[in-house]
Amino acid sequence: MDISFKGKRALVTGAGRGIGRDTVKRLVKLGAHVVALSKTKENLDTLKAEIPEVEVVQCDLANWEETRKAVSSLETIDLLVNNAAYAKLDPIGEVDEKTCDLHFDINVKSIINVTQEVIKKLKAAGKPGSIVNVSSQAGMVALQDHVAYCASKGAVDQITRVSALELGPFNIRCNSVNPTVVETDMGKRGWADPAKRQWMMEKIPLRRFADVDDVVDTIVYLLSDRSAMINGVILPVDGGFTAC
Ligand code: NDP
Repeated sequence: MDISFKGKRALVTGAGRGIGRDTVKRLVKLGAHVVALSKTKENLDTLKAEIPEVEVVQCDLANWEETRKAVSSLETIDLLVNNAAYAKLDPIGEVDEKTCDLHFDINVKSIINVTQEVIKKLKAAGKPGSIVNVSSQAGMVALQDHVAYCASKGAVDQITRVSALELGPFNIRCNSVNPTVVETDMGKRGWADPAKRQWMMEKIPLRRFADVDDVVDTIVYLLSDRSAMINGVILPVDGGFTAC
């Protein structure tokens, strides 16, 4: 597909590892100026060493004020990928308050916070924009031991729909990408148990987990003008898991 982001400025959260890091690399390849925001300095240092033109921002998204300060200091962002997330798996009978708070602070509240700062400048400049929230199949169906994570991703999808409704009139689109298991650090942590892996694999009609590139391809498509009429969509990248 013929996609160029030349002249566009992109912000990717959770850019130090996994899906976020590869999204940064792809956006740079497609011509965007990319701001990579993440929590761990070492991950940002290695990213900067690999791609010197990337602007890196170290920030803990769980901290509302710190996040607000970091994002408000950036020049106007045209393309936003709200990708960072926290995941710790516990059954509903055992999940504690701290775990619930981390899921909601990082996975949910930070999306509202970052989006608010980004749209402020976009609207003031009268520029179009595209936002992709990286959600999960866990926002759409129930998964064992995923109560806090499922709840947070369900909330992400609702943020996407409301953003699409409220920002559409400003020509700012917002969509969700909802992957199945991807074998990043997060995916490996959650799906290491062979019996659990096999159960999930058998439920996916394509009989494989998603590659990072499957997700990055979808993010890029939704950020681009190739999806100009797509707004408020919750798009599974799950080999058919949520269709069955
Ligand atoms: P990783 O754990 O590999 O990476 C998560 C990234 O988020 C890291 O770069 C991490 O920062 C960053 N991050 C976490 N907490 C904070 C914080 N408080 N402040 C700033 N940055 C933070 O996860 P994935 O790449 O797998 O996940 C990316 C997205 O995809 C997430 O939204 C996840 O929920 C979603 N997803 C993942 C699936 C999977 O199986 N992997 C399946 C479905 C959805 P740092 O490295 O700097 O510490």
